[in-house]
Amino acid sequence: MATMLQTVHNHAPSEDNPFQIAQQQIKKACSALKLEPAVFEILKEPAQVLSVSIPVKMDDGKVKTFTGFRSQHTNVLGPCKGGIRFHPRVNMEEIKALSMWMTIKCSVLGLPYGGGKGGVICNPKEMSLGELERLCRGYIRAVASFIGPDRDIPAPDVYTNAQMMAWMMDEYSKIQGYNVPAVITGKPIALGGSLGRAEATATGCVHTIVEAAGRLGLDLSAATASIQGWGNAGSNIHYLLSRLGVKVVAVSDSGGAVYNADGIDYNSLYMCKQTTGSVVHFQGGKKIDPEEVLTLPVDILIPAALENVITAANAGQIKARLVAEAANGPTTYEADEILHEKGIVVIPDILANAGGVTVSYFEWVQNMMHYYWPAEEVNQKLQGKMIQAFRETYDMSRKHRVSLRMGAYMVALDRIAAAMRLRGWL
Ligand code: GLU
Repeated sequence: MATMLQTVHNHAPSEDNPFQIAQQQIKKACSALKLEPAVFEILKEPAQVLSVSIPVKMDDGKVKTFTGFRSQHTNVLGPCKGGIRFHPRVNMEEIKALSMWMTIKCSVLGLPYGGGKGGVICNPKEMSLGELERLCRGYIRAVASFIGPDRDIPAPDVYTNAQMMAWMMDEYSKIQGYNVPAVITGKPIALGGSLGRAEATATGCVHTIVEAAGRLGLDLSAATASIQGWGNAGSNIHYLLSRLGVKVVAVSDSGGAVYNADGIDYNSLYMCKQTTGSVVHFQGGKKIDPEEVLTLPVDILIPAALENVITAANAGQIKARLVAEAANGPTTYEADEILHEKGIVVIPDILANAGGVTVSYFEWVQNMMHYYWPAEEVNQKLQGKMIQAFRETYDMSRKHRVSLRMGAYMVALDRIAAAMRLRGWL
C-alpha cells in the first residue's frame, strides 16, 4: 500500500498502465476540487476484484481453461455497472482501470450507478459459436454470486455482443430459477433489450461532437473526420457523421487502414466489412499505415478501439481540432497534456462514449418496470442526458480553466464526494 501511495503521489503514471492513469486523473480532479483526502483514499482502488478460472470444453473435445475478471470499483452511487470484454490482451490492471472510468462515467451522466468491468482473456475471432456460448455461460457461473440487478450489472464491451448477453442472462436466470433480465444489459430486443441500445454509444458520441462543434464554430457539413477502429461504435459513428455531412476520409480496424480524400461511403464500406471481415479490403480508397489514421490533417479524430493509442510519441503530430474518444482510455496521461497544450479539444471517453451505458441504464429501468419504451422515447431521453452532461462538463471546465476531461472528472467527483459525505464515509 505504501508503495502504491508513492506511485500515485510522486510520479507521473507509467505511459501504458491504464490503472495508474485512472488513479492519476482522479487524484488530479480531487485536488482541483479540494476534496477531503478520504475521497481519493476510497477511490484509488476498486472495492472488490474477482479473478476466475473458466474451464471450457472446446470443439476438439479438449478442455481449455480461460482466465476472467470482474472488478467492482465502488457502489457509492448505486450498483456497479459496466461491460465485459473478450480480448487476448485483457489483464487485471486494465479491468480495474476500466471499472474506475465507469464510476466516473456514470456519475458524469447522473446515472445511479458505480463502476464495474469484466473481462476474459481469449480471442473470440478464433472460437466457434459453440465455444463462445460455453465460455459466456462458464463466466457467468463463475461470477454469479458476485453480480445481480441490484449489485452489479454487466453489458457488452470490446468483442462481446447482444447474443453473448442473451446466453449470459439465460445462464444467470437458470441459476436463480426464474427470469432475471435486469442482471445484464445490451440484450437482444426479444429478451428485454432496449431499442436504441446497439447504436447508443455512437449516437451519444455524435451528440457530444455536435455540442463541441457548436462551441468551436466548426461547421460539420464542411468537416472531415478519421475513425480509428470500425467496430460497433466506430462504424455507427461513421454512419451518423455522414448523415450530418461530415466527410469520413480514413478508417482502420485490426486488419489495416484505408484513406480516400473524397470521403469513404458508409454503405459500401459496410458491405466490404460484412463480406471480407476487414475494412482493409475496401476498394474505394487506398491502403495506408493504420498509425497514419491518427495524424491525418482532419477536423475530427475519433479513436474508437482500445486504450493507449494516442501517446507521448504521436500526440505532437495530431492535427485534428477535435478528438472524440469513443474508446475507453485511448489517450495516455502525457499525451493528454500535449493535446491540451496544443489547444486540441478532447471530448473525454467518460463523456464521449457514455451513450452506451446511458441506454443500458434505460434498459435496466425498463426491465425493472416490465414496461418498454418506443425508440423515439429512448433516443430523446439519451439526447437530453448527453447534452446536459456536456453542458455541465463544459461549464465546469470553463469555470476552472481546465480541459473537458478534467471538467468531467470534477463534475463526477463532486457528486461522488457529496454522496460519500451524506453516507458518513468521509
Ligand atoms: N462497455 C460500455 C462502456 O464502456 C457500456 C457499459 C454498459 O452499458 O454498462 O461504457
